[in-house]
Formats: sequence, structure tokens, C-alpha cells
Amino acid sequence: MRESTFDVAIVGGGPAGLGCALALRTIGVERLTILESQNVGASFRKWPEEMRLITPSFHSNSFFSTDLNAISPNTSPGDLFGVEHLSGKQYAAYLEAFVEHYELPVREYSSVDRLDADGEGFLLEANGETIRARFAIWATGEFSFPDVETFPGANLCRIASQVESWQGVQGDEFVVIGGYESGIDAAYHLACRGCTVKILSRGEPWDIDDPDPSVSLSPFTKERLARIVRALPDSIELHGDRDVIEVIREEAGYRVLTLDGSSFATAEPPILATGFESGIKRQVASFFEWQGGRPIFSEVDSSTLYPNLFYSGPSLVHRGSKFCFIYKFRARFGVIAQEIGKRLGLDTSSLSDWERRGFLIEDLDCCVDCKCEIESSALEEAAP
Ligand SMILES: Cc1cc2nc3c(=O)[nH]c(=O)nc-3n(C[C@H](O)[C@H](O)[C@H](O)COP(=O)(O)OP(=O)(O)OC[C@H]3O[C@@H](n4cnc5c(N)ncnc54)[C@H](O)[C@@H]3O)c2cc1C
Repeated sequence: MRESTFDVAIVGGGPAGLGCALALRTIGVERLTILESQNVGASFRKWPEEMRLITPSFHSNSFFSTDLNAISPNTSPGDLFGVEHLSGKQYAAYLEAFVEHYELPVREYSSVDRLDADGEGFLLEANGETIRARFAIWATGEFSFPDVETFPGANLCRIASQVESWQGVQGDEFVVIGGYESGIDAAYHLACRGCTVKILSRGEPWDIDDPDPSVSLSPFTKERLARIVRALPDSIELHGDRDVIEVIREEAGYRVLTLDGSSFATAEPPILATGFESGIKRQVASFFEWQGGRPIFSEVDSSTLYPNLFYSGPSLVHRGSKFCFIYKFRARFGVIAQEIGKRLGLDTSSLSDWERRGFLIEDLDCCVDCKCEIESSALEEAAP
């Protein structure tokens, strides 16, 4: 088996892995590799055609308000495409341009199938090659791991994130399970096509009034929902406090049963938009300590069991708060790079610009309670 050695191996070529890679390059870490099981930005390439980033892009970088979807202080996807809400394919193209511009060492189609501790460092296996690294950063995101075991019969449903285009889905009447961003997004695009949609949700996310877009619906989605309901009042029915407990197959289609004793019949497979699990839980759970279904992180985003194993991405949790948006988890790229730099004995002062621009926030007072489509009771049950 071939073998190669690096200071840092990053697993995942999405925004989290690539942002950390550039921060590490900034302080002079050259023995670095990024292993990506598919191609750069693979998760974004698979988004339904009509889906857009809910976080707006706007080039205001020179005024120290970096584009919310940028993964470095000096780039802007909004500027690159002249678009405020990018499609998945556009965002993937931004990531690709980022790799090319900064000449980042990504190995595409290199799936890491195994991680082993090796003294203070790690051994990773990808495509029959062994990679030795003193530090590893796990950055495999959540999109690859939809939560499909959420209740009996969930496997009968159509997973919202795996739909190629809402135009191509057959049928006129739909039931969507999940009332957060993905569920409303699905309903909106189906309604625009002239379909009627019932949304069943555990709570009533559309009524939550909270300034954090991770807790309530984003302004982009609230605006779209209001617009479609105004234009086509009967297109979307919102059914709050309907905790789905089972989906069953029946002769005429499917029946969705809820905890309050109601049931909803539908000819088409119900659309499942109940969120995602973490790559940490699915791939490297035993490398982390867990509490209440959540991995525990050190103050510098590493595992408390393996201090040289870091995590970057939307599953990061500090003080009960999930860093589920790009603008949240990018705040820690500099923190991770600074810590690895210190342990490698490097001068990390070149990260000062990253700090000024919100890519190195050490003060965790930014944490606010955050749901990100994972409802709290599900989290309590979700032991690794
Ligand atoms: C449907 C949806 C919509 C979202 N919309 C927004 C939004 O509008 N704004 C926002 O800020 N955030 C949004 N998010 C949050 C989202 O988590 C981030 O935007 C982003 O995708 C997270 O980046 P990441 O790099 O951690 O994960 P990803 O982009 O998923 O990248 C992880 C990469 O790891 C690779 N990988 C997985 N396993 C392996 C392995 N074993 N070996 C090697 N590579 C592997 C995958 O192929 C993938 O390319 C959304 C999330 C979802 C699911």
C-alpha cells in the first residue's frame, strides 16, 4: 500500500475544509492535503435545481463586512456571480474557483474510509493509500447524511435534498414533513408549479419570532412564503404541532400518522425534510465524547479524546449553540489554524486580518441557542 506523510490532513472539500486549508496556508503550513470523496463542492452540486442559499451574498468586504457566504476574508461569491442568493451549482463553482486561485492541494475522488490514531497523529486510508498526518480536520458536513430513520416508514418518503428539480416531480398534491427551511423551500417550489402542499411540522417554525435565522425562518424564506400565500392562498396549508410518528403504504398511496391522532392521505410519497445527521456521528463517533446526543468539543474545536483531531463545519456545537451557517462556522477557521500553528511552532501573526474580518472569533459569547432543523427532542434521543 502506498504511503504519504503530511502535517495536516483535511477530510472534505466543502466550504469548511477549504476555508481551514487557506487559513493554514496563510501561516505557512505547506505539508497539507485535502481529501474529497467526490469533487469540490459536491454537496452543493446535488442541491435541487431551484434551491438557493438562504443567506444573502453582497460584496462589502472592504468595509470589514465580508460577504456572508465567503470562506475567506478577500473573496465574495456575490461578486463572482452578481447574484444575491446563489444556486448550489454557482456556489460549487465559487469553491472550485477558490481552489484554483489559491492552488489548494485537493485530491478529488479520495474517500477516507478509515481513521486510526497513531501516537499523537493519525493514519487515514483513502483509495488504497495510507496517509499519515500529525493533525486531522474532519470536515465532511451533514448533507451526505440525511436523517432517514426518524420514524417508521420514513424510508417510504422522498428525501427533499435528493430531488434533482421540483419541476420533474410527478403529482399535484403533496405532503411535506418538516416545517423548517428545506420543507418550506420544497413547498414553495411545488406551489409555484401550481401544486397544493400540506406542511406537517413538529412545532410552528413559521411563527417563531427570534432574531437568529437558525431558530426562526430566514427573512428570504418568510418573504417567499408570504408572497406565495398572497398570490395563491390555497396552495400551502401549514399544520403546526403535528409530530409525525409513522408513514404507511396503502392502496391509494400513503398515509401519514401524527402523534395527536390525525392522519393525512397522499397519493405521492410524502416529502421528507426533517434534517440531517453529522459526519462526525456517522463516520468518526468513537473519536469524540458525547453528551445528550451531541459531540463535545474543546475550546479550540478539537476532540476532547484526541486533541489533534479537529472539526470544522455545521455540526460544531459550543454552549448549546450549533454553528450551522457558513458565516458561523467560518468564524472558527482562524481558531483552528492558530492552534495547529502554535503546536507546530509557527508564527501565527499573519492571521490578524482573518481576526479583524470575523474569521477568528475566540469569544464564544457569539453562541445563541440554535436548532437548525434538528429538533431538541430528537437530539436527546440521538446517542451515537
Ligand atoms: C439543504 C441545505 C441548505 C443549506 N443552506 C445554507 C445557506 O443558505 N447558507 C449557509 O450558510 N448554510 C447553509 N447550509 C448549511 C450547510 O451545512 C453549509 O452550507 C455547508 O454545506 C457546510 O459545509 P461543509 O464543508 O461542512 O460540508 P459539505 O459542503 O457537505 O462538504 C463536505 C464534503 O465532504 C465530503 N466527504 C464526505 N465524506 C467523506 C469522506 N469519507 N472522505 C472524503 N470526503 C468526504 C463530501 O463529498 C463533501 O464534499 C445548508 C445546508 C443544507 C443541508
